[in-house]
Amino acid sequence: MTDTRMEEALGLAAQLLLAARDVVVTTGAGMSKESGIATFRDAQTGLWARYNPEELATRRGFEKDPALVWTWYAERRALIERAEPHEGYRALAAMEARFDSFVVLTQNIDGLHAAAGSSDVIELHGNIRRAKCFDSNHPASGAWTTSVDTPPRCECGSYLRPDVVWFGEMLDPAHLDRAAEAIDGCDVMLVVGTSGLVYPAAGFPEAAKHAGKMVIEINPEPTPLSTMADVSVRSGARDALSELAQLVARLRS
Ligand code: NAD
Repeated sequence: MTDTRMEEALGLAAQLLLAARDVVVTTGAGMSKESGIATFRDAQTGLWARYNPEELATRRGFEKDPALVWTWYAERRALIERAEPHEGYRALAAMEARFDSFVVLTQNIDGLHAAAGSSDVIELHGNIRRAKCFDSNHPASGAWTTSVDTPPRCECGSYLRPDVVWFGEMLDPAHLDRAAEAIDGCDVMLVVGTSGLVYPAAGFPEAAKHAGKMVIEINPEPTPLSTMADVSVRSGARDALSELAQLVARLRS
């Protein structure tokens, strides 16, 4: 996208936000890329290139080789713990006070929205900083560490696993209800850094469109959502969100 087209798209996006009272933001792995966290597809490099996500992010994968899965997540967790939210995250957090509601529905498991100060965040796919019981799903109690090459044991004797949603697992129904309610009540949905392939989150923009909401997409690449979006900003999340927040602040004052 040329600079003029990008400016135009950002201008339109800012106008939609200025007219809105309730906003939903949905984010995917692309949101965290400029904080140094690889997207799922980009992460399958080096040592991990010969594994596919189904071997690493499923119950079956864990049952087959708990140490392999634990080590993969331990590496991801170490990377995430070193990461800082970029300006785009902070721009979202700063913007929320301008609206009656500003709900972030994220597929990311890195906790960066909350770290940046966003106050209403639903982590649909869990959070890699937490662990839970593999057999019974209860939260891990007491201290546990990733710096071992087999998963630590839960107090009940089962293994601990990362508290994230794996392929083939259900999302927390309370989170889905909250997401549906937020989408129903919003005027604008901002969709940032998601390929739109992983359901049910991939269905949120479509649900918003069907309900007559305005949809803004921020993604450097076209996605299945692009033809449906009211505005597509072809840019990385950091610059697009920083500029959008500045534009909204300037136009509103
Ligand atoms: P994805 O990997 O399928 O797609 C990433 C999208 O981000 C792509 O459309 C890409 O064009 C876009 N993108 C790349 N750079 C960008 C940038 N700088 N700014 C904005 N967008 C950019 O990711 P997904 O749609 O989130 O689905 C993959 C699944 O993997 C999700 O369920 C998520 O839970 C999980 N995941 C999470 C993290 C994390 O927590 N940071 C990282 C990897 C994967």
